Amino acid sequence: MSSVLRPSTFYPILSLRITSVSSRMLASQVAPLRTPVPPTLLTFEDPRAFQAKSWWELTRALGVFRLCSFPVLVNHCGKLMSFTRTILGKRAFAMALRPFVYAQFVAGETEEEIAESMEKMKSTGEQRYDDNLASMLECVRMSHHNTWSKDPMMQLKITALVSPELCVKLTCLLQEQQYDLNLLVKAMDGEVIVFPGLSESENTHFLYGLRRLNEIGEASINKVRVLVDAEYTYMNPALSLITMAMMKKFNQDGAWIWNTYQCYLKESRDLLLDAVRLSVEQSFCLGVKLVRGAYMDKERKLADKEGRADPVHQSWEYTNDCYNGSLEIMLNLISQHPQRYKIIVATHNEESVRKAVTRMTELGIDRDGGAVCFGQLLGMCDHVSLTLAQQGFSVYKSVPYGSVDDTLPYLVRRAQENRTVLQGIRKERDLLRQELRRRVREKITGAK
Ligand SMILES: Cc1cc2nc3c(=O)[nH]c(=O)nc-3n(C[C@H](O)[C@H](O)[C@H](O)COP(=O)(O)OP(=O)(O)OC[C@H]3O[C@@H](n4cnc5c(N)ncnc54)[C@H](O)[C@@H]3O)c2cc1C
Repeated sequence: MSSVLRPSTFYPILSLRITSVSSRMLASQVAPLRTPVPPTLLTFEDPRAFQAKSWWELTRALGVFRLCSFPVLVNHCGKLMSFTRTILGKRAFAMALRPFVYAQFVAGETEEEIAESMEKMKSTGEQRYDDNLASMLECVRMSHHNTWSKDPMMQLKITALVSPELCVKLTCLLQEQQYDLNLLVKAMDGEVIVFPGLSESENTHFLYGLRRLNEIGEASINKVRVLVDAEYTYMNPALSLITMAMMKKFNQDGAWIWNTYQCYLKESRDLLLDAVRLSVEQSFCLGVKLVRGAYMDKERKLADKEGRADPVHQSWEYTNDCYNGSLEIMLNLISQHPQRYKIIVATHNEESVRKAVTRMTELGIDRDGGAVCFGQLLGMCDHVSLTLAQQGFSVYKSVPYGSVDDTLPYLVRRAQENRTVLQGIRKERDLLRQELRRRVREKITGAK
């Protein structure tokens, strides 16, 4: 495990729902809903899914995906970007990156200057976490108030509000003892709780962190669904504990706080079943973000370095079985209790999307009933998102925003991820090419 852990660089992530009046990318340009087709006919083969994109956006997407296909560039892109930034200087670098990789994956900077920073707390060590809280509250406000944001969702990284070191320590402590969710809820409500195993300063920081999370919950409930990100296995148990406490407090009447399950982990199906059990025992609604997982290479390297068993499934096929199995569990629960269980099928994989759509049809789950929705990252697999939206499903694009500098780690992760999400990207490249060719032909011959 790396010896120095920094708080997550915070770049807010909105999840924008794709509707005819939704995100900038689609505003008023999405084709009207076609007659619904059966799931088996959802081939995601139609390049016209990109009709809302400009020429420049098509060319840029092709260029960026082409660059991402060179392993040498992708593997060293973090260093390359740092080096170029040193040579060009921060401003010139930002100007150079903005129209290309940045514009492909990031929605832009904040809508307006971030609201005045929150009242200072006594300890200056808390300031950066408070600044992150202010940005997140602004994100809740933007998600809720803008007309382009229907049934809004946002993503939350707990390590932007509670120190990663503390999350690692809590994870170690959780191997020895369980923490009562009620204690965390009381701490969120402002009670001074002494958590066993923590030093005085750790305990104080934890109390501040839980109060910050409480503010997010208070601001979001009945307005914006908050999807908590999963990160690394050496801190996920702490993140889940905190998320479950938030669910206990805020999910009594509906799923406003959601947790993430990374199906590349061998333990992920057990974790999901534990969460279902806990939600029944403690009577709260459960929201699930189902992903395959973004940190495979690092998890493996770390396990290897520490001589531990690899926590990640041995192959993509095993990860895939796990994803499908978890999806099946959730869809069955949703078909019986659509108010208690919710899922966002967060994947770019067409087969998984098709499977979800098929099972929804078989189980009689509404396309737009709010219990099942789909999620893709901005700039990735738009042909999947747009096709689903046109067929009347709830689809969200995960839309980070912030300065070039703040979003750099995110851009590096996206480039590296494009290497593992090969099938979807290759297909998107082909469809982009077809659409460009179709337009050129149209220009030359004048034929539609
Ligand atoms: C809305 C949204 C939110 C997200 N939130 C999170 C989050 O909180 N935490 C997080 O970790 N990720 C998150 N992700 C990222 C997500 O994990 C990746 O987008 C996803 O892993 C890519 O998988 P796929 O299902 O889209 O594509 P696929 O191409 O079907 O699968 C690629 C994935 O399979 C897995 N894989 C690939 N090769 C192997 C192998 N040899 N052995 C085992 N497994 C393998 C990896 O997870 C790889 O990323 C989020 C994505 C979206 C769209």
